Amino acid sequence: MDNIFSFADELGPLKVIHIHEPAIGLKGVLVVDNVARGPSIGGLRMAPDVTTEECVRLARAMTFKNSAAGLPHGGGKAVLVGDPKMPLQQKETLIRAMACALREVEQYIFAPDMGTNEECMAWVQDEIGRAVALPREVGGIPLDEIGATGWGLSHVVDESLKFCDFDIRDARIAVQGFGAVGKHVTNFLCQDGAIPVAVSDSKGTIYNPDGLDVKKLIALKEEGKSVTEYTDGEKHSQDAIIDIECDIWIPAARPDVIHEDNVHRLNTKLVVEGANIPITYGAEKVLHKNGILCVPDFIANAGGVICAAMEYQGATESAALAAIEEKLRRNTLEVLHTAERDQVLPRDASLAMARKRIDRAMSFRRWNIF
Ligand code: NAD
Repeated sequence: MDNIFSFADELGPLKVIHIHEPAIGLKGVLVVDNVARGPSIGGLRMAPDVTTEECVRLARAMTFKNSAAGLPHGGGKAVLVGDPKMPLQQKETLIRAMACALREVEQYIFAPDMGTNEECMAWVQDEIGRAVALPREVGGIPLDEIGATGWGLSHVVDESLKFCDFDIRDARIAVQGFGAVGKHVTNFLCQDGAIPVAVSDSKGTIYNPDGLDVKKLIALKEEGKSVTEYTDGEKHSQDAIIDIECDIWIPAARPDVIHEDNVHRLNTKLVVEGANIPITYGAEKVLHKNGILCVPDFIANAGGVICAAMEYQGATESAALAAIEEKLRRNTLEVLHTAERDQVLPRDASLAMARKRIDRAMSFRRWNIF
């Protein structure tokens, strides 16, 4: 990044801190973007090729996500250069050192992201007492185990159906990515009466127009197998999930899977984004034009971060689930009503809602730097 100030605007970033300790090979960056709503929460990402620019952008995304989720937190992000699969002892040394280097930056609360997990957060907590998504044994709420994001998505679907012409009962769903997010949202929607006709993972797609047995699919994944090993269905390529005719399509795998060149293949009525940035803005515009409702990622998949924020406040698991349900239902309704009234994309309505909340929080402050 040539000049950090070329990325700066009236929201932030507030602080960009580079950390370098050659003795142990520590290279990292912390970006605190905006703290008007409260101390920032954002993940610590570990990868060999992370950059300051990526960190700046991800921190801004967290400012909007936390605001949209109605949390008393701003946005921040940290990146650590290194292969997350390095020997565990070396990884522990780096993460503990990174935490110690940021001990005084109370405007940032560590959370897990790509390359880090709850064990890493336990090391941070041990060093500086400022991390979320901790193991249960040290007061954490295991958000992937309880399916916090999938739980939230199921409520987003329920509210979104008020803007569609069909019911959840017997609605056909297709889910791309059957991991922590995908399997739980499938399970919750099945409990509401939906029928999963196709799911996919990195090995391929499994399809049965009469419905797949979600419990059997989850059992397969727990045995470390692919969903394509499910016997009562047709096996297709990974990409084939895009073409499945269904009522609700849920991306829960990778970024940018739907773009302007393949969006015409989606044969559905409602898209609810479980993954982060799974659909490009251009493709979302096409969906909007074609009358396919699409609820954007940072509204729909905020269950995880709400759970983490509730954990930080010392809430119980059931209180966290109740907060996810309440916040996501309210946000979905607000965003979809605005989108309908103003004839704008749900993403644009969501950004405007988040921005309004940040601006209001900033208006209460003398300076936004403390
Ligand atoms: P995960 O690693 O548990 O699961 C990902 C799943 O996607 C795996 O089953 C994998 O096999 C599959 N997959 C990978 N590439 C694929 C492809 N090209 N096509 C189909 N399937 C593919 O991850 P997760 O925690 O479920 O996260 C999924 C997405 O949701 C990510 O974008 C993540 O950033 C986002 N997200 C997760 C949470 C959370 O609470 N875990 C919260 C918000 C957003």
